[in-house]
Amino acid sequence: MRALLLSFISLILLACTSQEKKASVMAASKEKAPYAIVIHGGAGTILKKNMTDERETQYIAALNEALDVGEGILKNGGTAIDAVEQTIWLLEDSPLFNAGKGAVFTNEGENELDASIMSGNDQNAGSVGGVQTVRHPISAARAVLEKSDHVLLTSKGADQFAKEQGLEIVDSSYFKTERRWNSLQRILEEEAKDKRVLSELSENKHGTVGCVALDNQGNIVAGTSTGGMTNKRYNRFGDVPIIGAGTYADNNTCGVSCTGHGEYFIRYAVAHDVSARMEYLEESLSDAANHVVNKKLVDKGGSGGLIAVDAYGNVAMPFNSAGMYRGYAKPNERVVKIYED
Ligand code: ASP
Repeated sequence: MRALLLSFISLILLACTSQEKKASVMAASKEKAPYAIVIHGGAGTILKKNMTDERETQYIAALNEALDVGEGILKNGGTAIDAVEQTIWLLEDSPLFNAGKGAVFTNEGENELDASIMSGNDQNAGSVGGVQTVRHPISAARAVLEKSDHVLLTSKGADQFAKEQGLEIVDSSYFKTERRWNSLQRILEEEAKDKRVLSELSENKHGTVGCVALDNQGNIVAGTSTGGMTNKRYNRFGDVPIIGAGTYADNNTCGVSCTGHGEYFIRYAVAHDVSARMEYLEESLSDAANHVVNKKLVDKGGSGGLIAVDAYGNVAMPFNSAGMYRGYAKPNERVVKIYED
């Protein structure tokens, strides 16, 4: 009799828990925003004590300007793919971020740029790795998505493809900035002194840019663009051009763009993992994103963060480093932040 009673109680408890779980997903989904856009400009050891007021103002202004562009497109009924591409143009053009102009240098003193974009309606995707002459690598990724049968093109072939598509081509010196050049010189000097190969993460600063947008048609698009890691060599690619690692989008779950130590994001298929937790475990966006960044990646030793939007316009921006340049915009809502909350 006692055993019967106990199993009856546990059945009721089980039913309540799964109801609650459903309810929390429903709660997050009740109000579907007509649009939402979220961006990042990289995560890492970004501490207030190391930042001048002037520099902080520049970052905040650049993030707001980028959000203005994307929000303007979405507000006027534009598509998520246009919003993501054009928002990233701004971030790629800004020397503040490690993407496009201002990208970090390889060991050989060159800039090799990676970018990817994915659309959540048909899950078509495009990416480029190691391009050196395309002013906007995100547009090269979009061209791969829209104008080729492929997903990933690399190095000279990707540069050639971008040129044939009529994208803006620049001399490779266009991407150079003193700040990034000096970072490479510092690392090379340390390497020479210590007689050992320093990890590209010596500075532990990431500056990749990314954007995820939901448009009023319900399409979610995610895009990411980066120079990779300072002092990288052997044509190393990180997570950014790998669909499912640095970028992922599925209209049924969410869109994700990552920043951090790319090798970890590749190994744990981070962007896809967030979507998979929502799909298979019915987790909310914030639970899924938090678990992957603050539990799984932390346990494995991978630093970084991500931005994500779900089908209802809920936004998540978790990171496990000291800071992450980030922000989002929805109707009557705008947030831009750098440090921990
Ligand atoms: N994830 C990028 C890479 O590994 C770096 C970054 O996010 O800053 O190439």
